[in-house]
Amino acid sequence: MAEKTDSASAAVTSEPKRSWGDEVEDETPEEPSASTTESELNVGGLAIDENKKFNKFLDEPEDSNIKAVTSGDTPYTSASTFEDLNLSPELLKGLYVDMKFQKPSKIQAISLPMILTPPYKNLIAQAHNGSGKTTCFVLGMLSRVDPKLQAPQALCICPTRELAIQNLEVLRKMGKHTGITSECAVPMDSTNYIPIAKRPPVTAQIVIGTPGTIKKWMSARKLGVSCVKILVFDEADHMLAEDGFKDDSLRIMKDIERSGAHCQVLLFSATFNETVKNFVTRVVKDYNQLFVKKEELSLESVKQYKVLCPDELAKVMVIKDRIFELGENVGQTIIFVRTRHSASTLHKSLAELGYEVTTIQGAQKQEDRDKIVKEFKDGLTQVLISTDLLARGFDQQQVNLVINYDLPVKHENRTEPDYEVYLHRIGRAGRFGRKGAVFNLLLGDMDKMLMEKIERHFGTQVAEVPSWNSNEDFKGALKAAGLL
Ligand code: ADP
Ligand code: MG
Repeated sequence: MAEKTDSASAAVTSEPKRSWGDEVEDETPEEPSASTTESELNVGGLAIDENKKFNKFLDEPEDSNIKAVTSGDTPYTSASTFEDLNLSPELLKGLYVDMKFQKPSKIQAISLPMILTPPYKNLIAQAHNGSGKTTCFVLGMLSRVDPKLQAPQALCICPTRELAIQNLEVLRKMGKHTGITSECAVPMDSTNYIPIAKRPPVTAQIVIGTPGTIKKWMSARKLGVSCVKILVFDEADHMLAEDGFKDDSLRIMKDIERSGAHCQVLLFSATFNETVKNFVTRVVKDYNQLFVKKEELSLESVKQYKVLCPDELAKVMVIKDRIFELGENVGQTIIFVRTRHSASTLHKSLAELGYEVTTIQGAQKQEDRDKIVKEFKDGLTQVLISTDLLARGFDQQQVNLVINYDLPVKHENRTEPDYEVYLHRIGRAGRFGRKGAVFNLLLGDMDKMLMEKIERHFGTQVAEVPSWNSNEDFKGALKAAGLL
């Protein structure tokens, strides 16, 4: 996976100083990290055929409650099959043969007609984790590109290198028979480094990358945007958040606007908090909108648990004695930690106890990050420790267990949970309706308070595992989650 994208990419070695997703150390956060009448649409009428459940192993995310608000009077009909979308035969082949998809998920059924129907309105789309948002914008980009024009026509911006690479892989697989060209704009690993000035201009029709590199390519005039007609932000709430990539994202949007091309903007995420939503609805004009209430955002197929731990060693013991031992039969596991420091301490403790584990965090070299992700995706490693670098977007269907070694908290106020990050972390399990379990390891009153706030925010009850050192209790929890 890495070869494909790396050979096609070029940029400078160190992307955003504020690489999102993990903190350098405990004390210093690394990164401050329509006017038209809108009519409420009855999405019940857009519901796709519930009777055609195609995979009995999946508890499909179809019953997800997505509400649509459309602007103007363009009528949209939900697509119950991919054929309904008038996709090219080449794309249909990619979907059925290469992706092995059978029918659109709910967000695909609703959003794709909005994306593909003239006048190509902007779209702000919220849908659950693992519900198939990537396919919405990948099909959007692949369908709208003119294959005869060898120039960048679609841009997709993602918060991390890992997500840009993952999205590019989906695009290349889905678009395999279309002949459409693509390039990954992420920081280059040090061994292949070529300065941007020495590179030829980008001719690929679709460019997927991180904001720093995209901006750099644009200002070096190597990435022309005059033909760009579709601009996608994946994890859009983070891309437009003050403590995220707001400045870069706005700058890219403005530069494209200034180049005169009419460009459709698509914003996708599982979360849009009120602040971001208010901001987004001011900067994006004349948009259709799909959204989900926060109380309906948690995945029902992913069981959430809390485990009260008396001290830090108990947390390590839970991972060693329960997660490693029981998790083996369950699938792959991601352990989320808040800081890089915490990642390496935990890694060391487990390694000293003789357990094999890999760790990913933002301070590692690009090529090491790529290697660790590849090994995990290939199933060569079973347990991965990660900072919030992988909290968003990372898609690995075999991940059934997520451990919150630390609860996610806001950078500016550690007594306040980061609700969005929590939701994204737990959404790494239970992809596309699969079953999963999350264990939140709580230490002390502060953690209990944070957990309560999270429960209140999402209107969910997080069950307590009675004892941190009882094998039976953990087995019971995994059974109740449908994993054993
Ligand atoms: P999201 O971005 O909404 O969190 P993804 O786009 O990463 O979710 O999709 C989650 C998983 O579901 C991926 O592994 C993807 O291949 C799979 N998937 C998406 N759409 C379909 C579909 N129509 N049929 C079967 N699997 C799908
Ligand atoms: Mg996604």
